[in-house]
Amino acid sequence: MTSTPPIPATEEVRLASLLRQAPLEFARVVYGLNDRASGRAGTMAAEEVARTVRQGVPVTRERAEQRARAYLPVAGHEHCPRCWVFNGIKSPLHFREASDDRPETAICKVCGAEYTSSLE
Ligand SMILES: [Zn+2]
Repeated sequence: MTSTPPIPATEEVRLASLLRQAPLEFARVVYGLNDRASGRAGTMAAEEVARTVRQGVPVTRERAEQRARAYLPVAGHEHCPRCWVFNGIKSPLHFREASDDRPETAICKVCGAEYTSSLE
């Protein structure tokens, strides 16, 4: 019985998994706006929207959609999909290496988002 070491995520996998997050973050914006509009301010998505608005950035469905479409992470300088879609800011992601029981993770120190570098 030999255990195979985890395969490090390639840059391709990293970028592809981040790209898949942008539309999901856009969906969170939509949920957040809907929740706020119907008085459910306590949901996670609504709180993300509220946090962004407190920073002085208006959150609209149209802007978030445009940004989600325009999200383009650059190898070696990947930025956080959530900060980008919600806020239009480029927060650098920090990568935590894969271990035996989990794949590589990208972490945003600005908003606390965590993304897995995996196409599963
Ligand atoms: Zn972020």
